[in-house]
Amino acid sequence: MMIRVYLVLLCSCMARGKIGYFWHITDIHYDPKYSSQGNTDSMCWNIRTDIDTGGIRPARRVAGIFGNYTCDSPWALIESAVHAMKSNRPEEGTEFVLWTGDAVTHNSEMSEELRLQSMKNLTDLLSHTFSSQFVFPALGHEDIGLNFSQIASLWKHWLPSEALQTFEKSGYYTIEQKLKKYRIISLNTNLWLNPVTGVDNRVSQHHQNQRTGASAVNDNTDDPHGQWEWFDQILASALEKKEKVYIVGHTPPGVDERASGASLLQDSHNRRYLQLVQRYASIIGGQFYGHWHSDTFRIIYHEGVPVSWIMMAPSITPGRPNFPNNPGLRLYKFETTSGKILDYTQWYLDLQEANAKGRASWQEEYSLLSYYDLKDVNAMNLHDLAGRFIKTNDNAFSRYYAANTVFLPREVAHRTGCGGALSGTCARQHWCSVTRVNPGPYSDCISLNAFALAEACSPTPRFYIALHVVSALCCLLLSR
Ligand SMILES: [Zn+2]
Ligand SMILES: [Zn+2]
Repeated sequence: MMIRVYLVLLCSCMARGKIGYFWHITDIHYDPKYSSQGNTDSMCWNIRTDIDTGGIRPARRVAGIFGNYTCDSPWALIESAVHAMKSNRPEEGTEFVLWTGDAVTHNSEMSEELRLQSMKNLTDLLSHTFSSQFVFPALGHEDIGLNFSQIASLWKHWLPSEALQTFEKSGYYTIEQKLKKYRIISLNTNLWLNPVTGVDNRVSQHHQNQRTGASAVNDNTDDPHGQWEWFDQILASALEKKEKVYIVGHTPPGVDERASGASLLQDSHNRRYLQLVQRYASIIGGQFYGHWHSDTFRIIYHEGVPVSWIMMAPSITPGRPNFPNNPGLRLYKFETTSGKILDYTQWYLDLQEANAKGRASWQEEYSLLSYYDLKDVNAMNLHDLAGRFIKTNDNAFSRYYAANTVFLPREVAHRTGCGGALSGTCARQHWCSVTRVNPGPYSDCISLNAFALAEACSPTPRFYIALHVVSALCCLLLSR
């Protein structure tokens, strides 16, 4: 009996492999002009507005030391976030940091020089903090006023020469962790943006021309900068080498779950992305994105079966117009030998409290498995979790909804998104965006009739259920 227990324990230990961690940070949106005494009506800058200089002066809302729900990030917030990452280092060690873009401010009037300086300051801060680890960055849709070679020269100490070559030319790269059997693919999703919706509509025409001319949507072919051909080739060779692949990028496919269906990737690129993921699902260990600033996920299906997942980490910046959130940092736990993702812990800063106390205490918000009562991180379990959003008598949606804005205080949250009350419509909107990563099927899902239909015949992954039963039986037999 004891021998059997020992063998089972030994086998599960061997199967588990070495544990490692990596951070995922995104959407810092550093604004060097932020002032803690700045006016929240004018981007938290310390400038006199017309109202200030006029006769009547309304009560000014002062920005605060660590940021404001209506503005981009001050340096104090970013420093506190990086300090939290450094001081909450797990014992087993942090293998690397994923940094998925939108480093610089939303503000379109910021000069190119100041944008580059911002990027340099952030790069220096991360380099000093994680001197023995690598940071794997991806370009965000706000980072496109700068050209690839300028950014490459800032990031060259993180990227091996092969990666640097493709990055300098086109803004994407791959890194093979040769000894560990996993690979990171960092995409330049700016190449696939919809030219109409994919550029911030507050960006002035001048800057649009400047940015698109510099490095972004300057290629209207089916395969801008050859990224599709390259991506396919890398996935094919990873399949051959039996490597696990992490796909990393800024703008994810699918729609914004908070803004009722806004999508940013061009339809044809969105479709092509899903096709590639379906084809190579067996080797994709995870897809890690940012951009929406919220805490959410997506499931990719193939013939009705959930085959892969995308995780979006919430932003460090609290400010996104109409959709604020508390600042967040995410720490993934994984098996270094196989690349299998085991769990993550979401960290956050209660911004109001930090500003009131004048001190930023980052704390753990939740861990994926225990928060949602999941056994394992896989597409099937996440599909089940999304299904619980639209079930009555299940608290999964209220939990997800609180995490979606990183525990935003109720009085701020009720002005945004679904409002104070969690209605069925709100749950449906989130459920549709999580399970329909294509704008067309999403619109069908969101319409009421389609919803009733979808609920009645939502994808029933019988095959996977059968597989689970078979594997459970195998385990049982093997442990005898
Ligand atoms: Zn952003
Ligand atoms: Zn973005």
